Amino acid sequence: MDTQPLIADFDVQTIRNDFPILHQSVHGYPLAYFDNAATTQKPQCVINTIVDYYSHLNSNIHRGVHFLSEQSTHMYEEARKTVQHFINAAYSQEIIFTSGTTGAINAVAFSFGERFIRENDEVVISAMEHHANIVPWQMMCERKKARLKVIPINQKGEIILDEYFKLLTPKVKLVAVTHVSNVLGTINPIDTVIKAAHEKGIPVLVDGAQSVQHIPIDVQVLDCDFFVFSGHKIYGPTGIGILYGKEKWLNEMPPYQGGGDMVHCVTFEKTTYNDLPLKFEAGTTNFIGAIGMAEAIRYITKLGIDKIAKYENSLLAYTMEKLSGFDRIRFYGTAKTKAPVISFLIDGIHPYDTGMVLDKLGIAVRTGTHCAQPLMDFFDVDGTVRVSLAFYNTYEEIDCLVDGIRRVIAMFG
Ligand code: PMP
Repeated sequence: MDTQPLIADFDVQTIRNDFPILHQSVHGYPLAYFDNAATTQKPQCVINTIVDYYSHLNSNIHRGVHFLSEQSTHMYEEARKTVQHFINAAYSQEIIFTSGTTGAINAVAFSFGERFIRENDEVVISAMEHHANIVPWQMMCERKKARLKVIPINQKGEIILDEYFKLLTPKVKLVAVTHVSNVLGTINPIDTVIKAAHEKGIPVLVDGAQSVQHIPIDVQVLDCDFFVFSGHKIYGPTGIGILYGKEKWLNEMPPYQGGGDMVHCVTFEKTTYNDLPLKFEAGTTNFIGAIGMAEAIRYITKLGIDKIAKYENSLLAYTMEKLSGFDRIRFYGTAKTKAPVISFLIDGIHPYDTGMVLDKLGIAVRTGTHCAQPLMDFFDVDGTVRVSLAFYNTYEEIDCLVDGIRRVIAMFG
């Protein structure tokens, strides 16, 4: 390693001790986990919270007057407040627990669609969206006979803002754009996107699945109408995610699922719905997931998102510098502002071959289309190799990756 980490008060080796999964060998090599955009590993405190909860407190929420149920309900509602403060939402009832980013986008696509979308209306997304921010809108457009419009991107993987501004006609009823691309790492100019839409009175949903773990988020400063993300990508459990929505929208939108907890009064003739946030939380939610997610948020907040970002950015720069040394590597996503996600291909070598050889060296990268087939079509590739970094990755691991790529090239010529 010829560059030293510059972040004096970010002790990665100590931080790594919090993550039991990282200390293992894969195929005889120390694990180097670079698939963090798919899911992140969990610190011991999150694992302990879940085990403790099942061991001592498990009981359904909002239902019982007994001790365990009251404890559970209290912890669940405290978890909601933890999320509220994490993204600086104005009110805790603007935080809806969902199954994940996908669940949250589908909820808005159905519920907002039912209330606000009419025939010939338009919804605007970008060309770099994950399938989770494409397909729910297509389904809604089909149902409502509305149209999906796509903001084009340039070869660097940046939204073409002038084209975006042109799309904002009176027909547009919603803009839904990712904050950070899960393939390219591009950090979109989301504040400009939101401002331009708001000037035309159009609300904006921000897909924060790849941003909230790297960038401090303040939904009131952003002024976005909806912000969605997943617990498992911010060092928390799977099966839990967040739909933040401005109260004024959520109050207007109908529930998207019916069942227990989301009702005031049920008769066979008529049902009245509960207030926010429970109106959107039908049935038994993943309450233990919510409590685990709150612990993950406390963990990263204690580390400091600013410090995380600083370390990850220096690791990204180091990785790019090293990989740029290979003249056979072609990068996909060279935007000016990037999160630590790197997509590339080695000239003449299939991404699966690269991924399989790296795996044999204990190095976990992602290969394939990354749930973004239209983006693959744009770059005219079948897939890419993706290295996505987290704050527990080290410079030494990057050196192993570089050695591994040398071996891939030697093996496949
Ligand atoms: N949007 C983006 C940008 C993503 O990266 C992902 C996950 N890869 C999703 C949405 C969907 O997230 P989940 O599978 O956790 O619902």
